[in-house]
Amino acid sequence: MTNIFRRMEDRDDYSVFKEERVLKPEYLPDDILHRETEIRELVSILQPFVHSRSPENVFVFGPPGTGKTVTCRYVLNQLEEYTSKVRGFYINCWEYNTRYSIFSKIGEELGLILPRRGLSADEVLYRIVDGYRHEGLNGMVIVLDEVDRLFVNKDEGNVLYDLARATENIGVNISIIIISNYRDFLINLDPRIRSSLMFKTIEFEPYSITALKDILRERSHIAFRPGVLDDDVIPLCAALGVKFGGDARVALTALWLAGREADREGSKHVTVNHVNRVKDQVFDFVLNTKIVLNPLEKKILSIIGGREWVSGDLYRELKERGIQLTDRSFRNYLKRLHELGLISVEETRHPSGRGMTRVVRRVR
Ligand code: ADP
Ligand code: MG
Repeated sequence: MTNIFRRMEDRDDYSVFKEERVLKPEYLPDDILHRETEIRELVSILQPFVHSRSPENVFVFGPPGTGKTVTCRYVLNQLEEYTSKVRGFYINCWEYNTRYSIFSKIGEELGLILPRRGLSADEVLYRIVDGYRHEGLNGMVIVLDEVDRLFVNKDEGNVLYDLARATENIGVNISIIIISNYRDFLINLDPRIRSSLMFKTIEFEPYSITALKDILRERSHIAFRPGVLDDDVIPLCAALGVKFGGDARVALTALWLAGREADREGSKHVTVNHVNRVKDQVFDFVLNTKIVLNPLEKKILSIIGGREWVSGDLYRELKERGIQLTDRSFRNYLKRLHELGLISVEETRHPSGRGMTRVVRRVR
C-alpha cells in the first residue's frame, strides 16, 4: 500500500495553475493592453518634462478596475528606465494618507536617511528638495493614487498645495498625477489648490468585452498550465467583468477563483461550471471592494430581505419603518440598487389583474 502521506501528495500535487499569483490584484503585468491612447497621452504630457521644461499635472479618473493604477505605474517605470534625470514615485493614499507619511515615503525612495522622529512634514519636504538638487535631477513625477483618501482629513490635502509651491517657488520640477474613481474629484477640490495647480484630465472608460477577453487571455498564459482552460471560460469571466462595470479586477478574480474551484475538485480542466460555481464569491468580492452603499440603501436592501415584494407594498413597508420617501426618490433608489445588480425589478401584471406593477427581489 502507498504511504498515506504520499497519497495525500499525489492528490495535492496537480494544480491547473502554473503561477497563480499573477491573477491577484497586486500583480503588475509587463504589458498593458487596450490602453494605448491613455499611455500615449501620459507620455506626451510627461515628454517635455524629460527635457526639463516645466511640468504638467494630470488628473486620471475612471471606475474601479479600468487599469488606472497599472497604466500609471507602467508609464512611471518606463520613464525611469528612459532617463535617470527624472524620478518617479508611486504613492497609494490608502496606505500613506498624511503629509508627513507621504513626504517621508518620497524621501526614503530618494535614498534620504531621515530620523524616525523629530522632523516636521515641512522639514522633510526641504530635505527632499536638497536631495533633488544633490542628485542633479530634472524632475520628479509623483503619483498619488486613490487620492480621495487624502481629503478625508482636510489638512492633509495640503500635500498638493505644498508640492505646487515647491514647483513654483523653489524651482523643483514636480509633476503630480492624481488618480481617483470620481470624476467630480477636481471640481470639489479646495479652490486654493485648484488655482495653484492645473490638471490635464485623462478618463479611463470601462473595458469592453473584447478588451477583457484579451487581458484575461494574456494573463492566463502565465497563470495556467497550457490547455487547462475550456474555451468558454475566458468569455464568461470577461462577461462578468462587463456586468460589473467593465472591471478587469472582477474578471481576473472570477478566473482565479474558478481555477481554485477546479483544483479543489481535483479537476484537470477549468470549465464554465467552475466559473458558475464561484459567481457568488465574485459577487461578494464586488460588494466588498466596489459597491459603497449609503446607510439608507443598506437599510432598504435589508428590508427587502429574502422575500418578493410588489413595489407598492415595499413602499408602504418602508414608510411604516420610518423611511419617508417621495414616490420619485423611492423609484430612484430601486433603480440604483438594480443597476448595481443587487435587486431585480420585474414588470408584471398586478395580482388584482388591474394594470401593471413591479416585483422587487434581492438577487441574492
Ligand atoms: P484601477 O486602478 O483602475 O482600479 P487596476 O489598474 O488596479 O485598476 O487594474 C485592476 C486589475 O486588472 C489589476 O490586476 C491589473 O493588473 C489588471 N489590468 C487592468 N487593466 C489592464 C490592462 N490594460 N492590461 C493588463 N492588465 C490589466
Ligand atoms: Mg487603482
